Amino acid sequence: MISEKMRPMIAGSSVIRAMFEEGIKMAAIYGKENVYDFSLGNPNVPAPDCVRQAILDIVNGEDPVMVHGYMPNAGYEDVRRAVADSLNRRFGMDYGPENIIMTVGAASGLNDILKTILDPGDEVLVFAPFFGEYGSYVGNYDGKLVIVPPDTDTFQPNLEEMEKRIGAKTKALIVNNPNNPSGVVYSEETIRRMAEILERKSREIGHPILVISDEPYRELVYDGVQVPYIPKFYKDTVVVYSYSKSLSLPGERIGYLAISRQVTDWEDVAAAATIAHRILGSVNAPSLMQRVIMRCVDATTDIQVYDRNRMLLYGSLKEYGFQCMKPEGAFYLFVKSPDEDEARFCQVCKEHRILVVPGSSFACPGYVRIAYCVSYEQIERSLPAFQEVAKAYGLL
Ligand code: PLP
Repeated sequence: MISEKMRPMIAGSSVIRAMFEEGIKMAAIYGKENVYDFSLGNPNVPAPDCVRQAILDIVNGEDPVMVHGYMPNAGYEDVRRAVADSLNRRFGMDYGPENIIMTVGAASGLNDILKTILDPGDEVLVFAPFFGEYGSYVGNYDGKLVIVPPDTDTFQPNLEEMEKRIGAKTKALIVNNPNNPSGVVYSEETIRRMAEILERKSREIGHPILVISDEPYRELVYDGVQVPYIPKFYKDTVVVYSYSKSLSLPGERIGYLAISRQVTDWEDVAAAATIAHRILGSVNAPSLMQRVIMRCVDATTDIQVYDRNRMLLYGSLKEYGFQCMKPEGAFYLFVKSPDEDEARFCQVCKEHRILVVPGSSFACPGYVRIAYCVSYEQIERSLPAFQEVAKAYGLL
């Protein structure tokens, strides 16, 4: 019954699904507290108080017909204005409500903008390692994902390799900063150099290359690190944002697209993305959550919780002899597999009841991703198991 196009997608998604099911089975056997599941990027910090208060105020105080009704497909105008004003204050932009489209999280924003720009066979560049769903999203519109290999010394984008892959078919580049899975924040210097190359190459190929800046982790940064706002450096940039991580609302599905006036043909792009949002079936972003965003537009999560986890896990793994970059953002550690076969390393971890995701799921074999958006106590409890794994590989 299912389409030929869906078959490889089922096969491709089985690694994480199998791990998820394995985690449930293991918890039933060993007890939930004895299984150290670091596989999912599901925030463990509750949404900030202002979210709960906003929901109560809206449900008790706003017109229920309005709160639960249809609205313009791009979202409520007052909400879009609040988002635009916040971005203008924070990044010195000149967005108005007409530049913002409320979306059903980043996944929906990415699909909207890809549907807006892609013709079959168009190419979308992405820097490895990257969030594996991009491949499916680009494939939805018969685009071709072109992977730029990683620079595993720094995990900054490999710009020389990017340049080599730009050609007449290149339509866009997806940039995810702070990065899932590496935890690295791409520096201003890197973004400037990237912008120079893209401008030059856009002239050469005769059409603009759109940067799709996927930034659900923008607010999750440590040690005062700054995340460059790409539209300030490269005009043809559309920002895809999500409140899944910054407000711990992944199940509520809320985010936005920001299409600035500097983007080539921005009015057409915004009109097409709004239609894409409707015809992909989302119609409009969840109404109640839009009203919440209006009231919590500048709220963020308690970053201290993730920072404490980061320091404990990073410090301990380094002490046990594992190699990894100190993450500057998001809530992931990307650890070099001490086994040449990273799948076997994941299996050894699993034998010690530790669940981690193989780097090949992010187009970066030889590494594993550890999501530390879990309780501090889970990390503490898992440390002896990590020590055992380190001993098994002669690191300790
Ligand atoms: N982009 C990246 C890099 C992500 O890590 C995720 C989710 O983990 C998403 C997009 C999708 O986020 P959302 O829940 O807002 O759809």
